[in-house]
Amino acid sequence: MTRKEKILTEAENELASRVRTAQIAFRERELSKAKARPELSEAKAKLGYIETCLDHRALGIRIGSGIKEVAGEKNAYIFTLTQNELEKEKESTEALIRKLELENGASSGEDGEKYYCRICKDKGYVKDENGIDRRCICFRKIFAEKIHEASGLPEGNFELTAPPADLYPQIADKEKYGISESPYDNAKKAYELAKRFSGDFGPGSKKLLFITGAVGVGKTYLACCAGQFAADKCMYVVYSGISPVLDSIQNRFFNSDEEREAYEERRDFVETADMLIIDDLGVESVTDKRYERLISLIDKRTGEGRKTVITSNYGLTEIRDVYGERLASRFADRKNSMSLRLVGDDIRLLKKTGK
Ligand SMILES: [Zn+2]
Repeated sequence: MTRKEKILTEAENELASRVRTAQIAFRERELSKAKARPELSEAKAKLGYIETCLDHRALGIRIGSGIKEVAGEKNAYIFTLTQNELEKEKESTEALIRKLELENGASSGEDGEKYYCRICKDKGYVKDENGIDRRCICFRKIFAEKIHEASGLPEGNFELTAPPADLYPQIADKEKYGISESPYDNAKKAYELAKRFSGDFGPGSKKLLFITGAVGVGKTYLACCAGQFAADKCMYVVYSGISPVLDSIQNRFFNSDEEREAYEERRDFVETADMLIIDDLGVESVTDKRYERLISLIDKRTGEGRKTVITSNYGLTEIRDVYGERLASRFADRKNSMSLRLVGDDIRLLKKTGK
């Protein structure tokens, strides 16, 4: 089973377990209602015997002693009634049941309480406007949670709606920040573009997002927002530092089958996740030649229509200097990739000094 299949199965099991819990809770509520009002269950039982009686008569069959025994002394008179009397008894018993149920506030159309999800009545699917079965929101929510858990995304509230206003200066300072607009306006544009990038997995959409900027200007945060946005749409997301990514695509020896299986599962997940986020390219050793594999990984993923997000303190020129033209050209390719540069003051420093 691949990691993706495991996540899906986990979500399906979780939904099934929530549905079972809802069923048990419903039955317990019904039971306690019945206990609270014994006359209701008695009336329901009585109605059952009346209907059995009517059925047997309609078919011309004698009522067996077993049924009479179960019905007990209290209901024995039912079996002696005439047809006319039986029908009257049925009417009055039905009326009694309705009255008792109304008093209980039970079964008065509150059908939804039987279910974990009222929308799909626990089928897990709903029909879309074209009559095609689609996974219900109840399943998609659980699935998105499982994707998030498996993604490695840090804990946090990552909203791609707008950049945190207090973290980007609102005043433009070209000399300081190197751009003519304010850092906040620049970040706002970056968030809009990142949202477009993360929300569109269709053909022709951009596959590579490069987020650059100095230390502490919120690159990781923006990358995590993009990951959260995709996970919420039930896309498989992997978030990782550069070194673990390089480790997971490196050929190596194994001491056991378990070790090999774990490696292959991880490698497959990194290669086939809908969105792979590689945080902080440039922190690994520059002499590391493994980045050739990184280029192959990016090319493979792009070719298969999967998205990759990379953050780095390096700009394109430095990427070219440090890693060479081949990697830099992937980021510079306007057709497949999008490049965002964040500017501002060091957020970590701002937080520390409280400014
Ligand atoms: Zn549902």
